[in-house]
Amino acid sequence: MTTSEVLTRRCSHEGCGVTPHLVLDDPDGVHAPACFSHAAWLEEDRELARSKGGLRKAAKDRKAPRYLDTHDLGDLETPADAQRWASIIAGATVTGRLSSNAASVALKALQAWLESHEQVALFERLAELEAQMARTITMTKGGRT
Ligand SMILES: [Zn+2]
Repeated sequence: MTTSEVLTRRCSHEGCGVTPHLVLDDPDGVHAPACFSHAAWLEEDRELARSKGGLRKAAKDRKAPRYLDTHDLGDLETPADAQRWASIIAGATVTGRLSSNAASVALKALQAWLESHEQVALFERLAELEAQMARTITMTKGGRT
């Protein structure tokens, strides 16, 4: 193809004023030369280009924060509640309902809640044991006198 041939090339689509160097030839020789937008044999490529743009948009939307509401989770008062929360958070993250950023913060908070809950439970148990011990000592003393 000579330079003058390149310069006189036109898109076969009526009224398309694309610059000559953007005019493409049909590799199968079925269609007249045309630009990327009008080439009949490039329909699939155009579709792919569009869907790639669509995927990029979806990826952008995926980065937007997504949250659960308290209705999804219920109360957090017992370790069983914490277990339910963790499984709901995990499920929501896997299905894309909850963004992974929100999920990791929530799970960290849940971990802290569980640890403090354990400590409270231990303190209560300790107080109970102390009271029991005091009662036993009183009883023993009472038995001796
Ligand atoms: Zn064209």
